Amino acid sequence: MSKSIIPKQDNHIIKPEVEIQKSIQENEDLEIYNKYNEFGYELFDANGNNPISDDERKMMILQLEQKFKEVLDILRISRSDPNATDTPRRIAKMLVNELLVGRFSKPPALTVFPNRKKVNNLVISQGIEIMSICSHHWLPISGTCTVAYIPGDYVIGLSKISRIVNWFARRPQIQEELGEQIADYFEELLKPQALGVVIKARHYCMIARGVRGSEEQSIMTTSVMRGLLMEEQSLRNEFVNLIQL
Ligand SMILES: [Zn+2]
Repeated sequence: MSKSIIPKQDNHIIKPEVEIQKSIQENEDLEIYNKYNEFGYELFDANGNNPISDDERKMMILQLEQKFKEVLDILRISRSDPNATDTPRRIAKMLVNELLVGRFSKPPALTVFPNRKKVNNLVISQGIEIMSICSHHWLPISGTCTVAYIPGDYVIGLSKISRIVNWFARRPQIQEELGEQIADYFEELLKPQALGVVIKARHYCMIARGVRGSEEQSIMTTSVMRGLLMEEQSLRNEFVNLIQL
């Protein structure tokens, strides 16, 4: 038997305490989570999607406004303060119509075009502005996304790419899942030979909370590579050079 270089008496080593956040499926106390809200609507993941009608949207804003009035009350903020008077309604509208709109709206209408010229090189859409909020703290995540692909049978217009990216971004997100969601969607839609989704974003929960990371430390980069971009190192190098990471 070969000698282990790890000392046998390792009880002095302090193991890090790692807590794994349980998902609902794993959680034994499943019953503590509601499947429906008090108004009878089904609940779904923070970064999921379930389109609603205009009437539902209006109702949602009214209901939220009432709840945010309670929030302000709990925080002892007087609504006779002219700056706070309409805050509950503003927050309600901002959440439903802007920050979380990707949860409640249908996917953007799209046209894909046949790849007539048999384009066989990287098509890169860079600098797509992203505004999201983190699932954990509901603080902004702001940055840019790059989507690249080598077409298969189809190509798509640039403006549509950014619409899809933002349809996914405008939900409470974690950046790692956002990249995967975007990649899954384009893979299904375009059946490309190669696909890359790179997101570089600043997380304000790092900046605004006690974790006083510097502006630099609060930036996260994630990349998802599929197809030839995953398999071929040279292509991946070309891609990274082109977007100058
Ligand atoms: Zn956060």
